[in-house]
Amino acid sequence: MSNYLHRLFSGLALCLFAAAPAVAQSTSPAELPHVAVLATGGTIAGTAGSETQTTGYKPGVLTADALLKSVPSLGKIAQVSGEQISNVGSENITNDVLLKLARRVNQLLAQPDIAGIVVTHGTDTLEETAYFLDLVVKSDKPVVVTGSMRPSTAIGADGPSNLLQAVTVAASPQARGRGVMIALNDRIGSARFTTKTNGTTLDTFKGNDAGYLGTLVDELPHFETSVLKHHTTATPFDVSKLDSLPEVDIVYGYQNDGGFMYDAAVAHGAKGIVVAGVGAGSESLLTLPSIKKAISRGVIVVRSSRTGGGFITEDPAYVGLLGDDLNPQKARILLMLALTVTKDPSTIQAMLHEF
Ligand code: GLU
Repeated sequence: MSNYLHRLFSGLALCLFAAAPAVAQSTSPAELPHVAVLATGGTIAGTAGSETQTTGYKPGVLTADALLKSVPSLGKIAQVSGEQISNVGSENITNDVLLKLARRVNQLLAQPDIAGIVVTHGTDTLEETAYFLDLVVKSDKPVVVTGSMRPSTAIGADGPSNLLQAVTVAASPQARGRGVMIALNDRIGSARFTTKTNGTTLDTFKGNDAGYLGTLVDELPHFETSVLKHHTTATPFDVSKLDSLPEVDIVYGYQNDGGFMYDAAVAHGAKGIVVAGVGAGSESLLTLPSIKKAISRGVIVVRSSRTGGGFITEDPAYVGLLGDDLNPQKARILLMLALTVTKDPSTIQAMLHEF
């Protein structure tokens, strides 16, 4: 077959596969895939004083069961069960919550009857939890993190449709093996690349240079790309053996930055520091003595960028490992996990490129 025909037929086969519904229309409820929804709080579970209030409301009010009851259509896509892991705004998600959530996700996915997992979460730190799960989930089954930008009481609340879309993806066989995903606002993104880009608008989650994995149309997932970074079953991280995570702090770069934040992090016991550097991870002459002192004390320093994009490359003027194109908050998640298995800078550097 000519190259052209081969491409045409493969394209057609892919289109048919991508457009196939997750479950047949006539499937009886008992035959539907079982999706567990783990609720952690956030705006999706938030309530406000009026239907026009979309800021200053209380996140983490509705329970997991209330969230599921608010979207009866979920029952047409999957058998859903709800569990409460926490009920907080995601600025209050701690390492303890991350470990509890990850262990529960792994337990559930080990059950043959569970097809996939949805995690509901505040959007502010959603990408951190999603990337953490991406690095520690030991299964190919889909794990999908979702949330909402408007509280449940708002006109045009986006929580119900986001939850429905996340369950649709989690129930879909096409979603297997893609790493942990973030599904909101008709988009399916990877945990590795998706980031919150706007504090108030619905279209806040973007994949920057990597784009999206796919799109949801009429509650059907259409996957278009895959992530090349290794994830889930291909990482060495094992949360079943962890009770805590090492302290890794982020220090922001800015003009006239004196370096004392690095000294404070080290004094507080940081085992790792992520520099949210200016530009492509540049470090100022004023901060370098403190950063070098931290490294000489065995603290692993990783350079990243405060710009929201781009790669960190070798530069003799600066010190620390290269954070690839991880944003500072994701570099912190990976560095915490890396430090649970090694203190060797070159091994950690390899991980920063691989995951
Ligand atoms: N700050 C809250 C949180 O992250 C609300 C933000 C949101 O969920 O959109 O949970």
